[in-house]
Amino acid sequence: MDDNSTRVNRDELTAWDRDHFFHPSTHMAGHARGDTANRVVTGGSGVRIEDRDGKVSLDAFAGLYCVNVGYGQTKIADAIAEQAHKLAYYHAYVGHGSEPAIKLSRMIAERAPAGLNHVYYGLSGSDANETNIKLVWYANNILGRPEKKKIISRWRGYHGSGIMTGSLTGLELFHNAFDLPRAPILHTDAPYYFRRTDRSLTEEAFSQLCADNLEALILKEGPDTVAAFIGEPVLGTGGIVPPPQGYWQKIQRVLKKYDILLIADEVVTGFGRLGSMFGSAHYGMEPDLITIAKGLTSAYTPLSGVIVADGLWKVLEQGSDKLGPIGHGWTYSAHPLCAAAGVANLELIDELGLVDNARDVGAYFRQSLAEALGDHAMVGEVRGEGLLAAVEFVKDKDGSKGGPVFFDAALKVGPQVAASLLERGVIARAMPQGDILGFAPPLCLTKAESDEIVAATKGAVEAIAAKVL
Ligand code: PMP
Repeated sequence: MDDNSTRVNRDELTAWDRDHFFHPSTHMAGHARGDTANRVVTGGSGVRIEDRDGKVSLDAFAGLYCVNVGYGQTKIADAIAEQAHKLAYYHAYVGHGSEPAIKLSRMIAERAPAGLNHVYYGLSGSDANETNIKLVWYANNILGRPEKKKIISRWRGYHGSGIMTGSLTGLELFHNAFDLPRAPILHTDAPYYFRRTDRSLTEEAFSQLCADNLEALILKEGPDTVAAFIGEPVLGTGGIVPPPQGYWQKIQRVLKKYDILLIADEVVTGFGRLGSMFGSAHYGMEPDLITIAKGLTSAYTPLSGVIVADGLWKVLEQGSDKLGPIGHGWTYSAHPLCAAAGVANLELIDELGLVDNARDVGAYFRQSLAEALGDHAMVGEVRGEGLLAAVEFVKDKDGSKGGPVFFDAALKVGPQVAASLLERGVIARAMPQGDILGFAPPLCLTKAESDEIVAATKGAVEAIAAKVL
C-alpha cells in the first residue's frame, strides 16, 4: 500500500468508529466530537502495547486489570487455536462438556481456598455476579426461607453493570439515569480508612464501626430478610482501597451471627493480583461463593466463573432433587475456546511464578511509589497490596487537622495526572470517583519496569501540581 491509501484507510476507520461503534463507558457526544483518545491498539508484548501510530506505552493497568500474564503470550494463543481446530464449540447443558472445561474446573478447585470445589461458568464478571444472586435466592427457596433475599453490598464496591449487578455496584455513575439500585439490594459503608470522618479512630476501631453499622442495617431490615453480603477483598474500581486492619474478621463475625452468606468478588484479586492466589485466603475470608473473571484467562478470551463452597453446593444439589435441573444457563457457559485459554493461562502463571512475582515486585513497586511521592504536597495517600496500587491526590493533606481536603471534582486532577502520565509513555487509570490514580500492571512486571512507572508518575504529578496547587 502506498502512503496515500494507508492514510485513506486510517481516516475511514476513524469515521467508521465514530459513526458505528458505540463504545462502553464513553462520553458519546464527546467521542463524536473528537474529544476522546480514539486510540486504536494494534499489538502488545509483555507489559507494553502499541497503537496504530506506532506509539508504544507501558500498560500499568493491564488493560482493565485483566491481562495478568502480559501481552503476546503465544502459549495461550496456541491453546486457543488448537482447541478451535479440534472443537470450537459444544454446549455444557444437561451434563455435556469439553475436555478443557473439565480440566479447568479441576485446576480452579485445586487453587481455590479449601472447601470451594464447584465452578459455574459465564463470560463476564457481571454475569457471574448475576449467577451469585440467583444461587443465593435459589438456596434460600430450597431451604424454605423465601423472605431471606436481600443482598448487602458496599458503597464504592464494583460488581458489574447489569441491572442487578449495577445495583450491587456502589458508584453513582452506574446508578444515575438508570433507575438503580433496584430492590432488594442495600449498601453499607465503604471500608475507606483514609476518608473516615472521625479522624481519631484507629484502623481496628474504624473496622469495628463498619461492622457495627452493618449489624445495625441487618437489624433494621430484619435478619430473616438478609441473604448475603458481597465485597471485593480489596475495593477496586471504587478507589483501590485495601481493607483496614481486622475488617474482614469483624464483618464475618456479624454475617455468621445472622446466617448470612459471604460472596467474595475476586474478579480483580483472583489468580495472583495481591501476591496470593486468592484475596480471600490473603485476608482470612471464608466465602460461600467466589466470583472470578479477568485473571482466569488474562482476558485472552472472555471467561468468568462462580466457585461454590461445599456447604452451599449440598443445598443446590438438594434443590435439583426437588425441582429438577437448575433453570439457569448461558449458551456460552464453559465455552471450549475460553476454557482452553484458562488452562493455558493458569499453567503459565505457575510456570512463570507470577503469584510470587506479584508479591515481590509488588512490594518493591509500592515502596518505590511511596518513597517517590509519599511526601509530595498533593499526595494524600499511597496504598495497595501486591500489584494493585493507588495514589490519592488532595488539595491539603490534613486541612488544619480536620483530615484531607479534596479538590473540586471539576478540576479533574486525577484525569489530568493520568493524561500527563500517558504523554510520558505510561498508562494508569484515573479511577471514577475521586482523584485517584490506579495501578494494576501485568503480574510479570520487572523491577526495571516498575522504576519506569514510578519515574514517569513522579514527573506527571509534579507537572500537574505546578498547575493546580
Ligand atoms: N467485579 C469486579 C470486582 C470488577 O472489577 C468487575 C469489572 N471491573 C466486575 C465485577 C464486572 O466484570 P465485567 O466488566 O467483566 O462484567
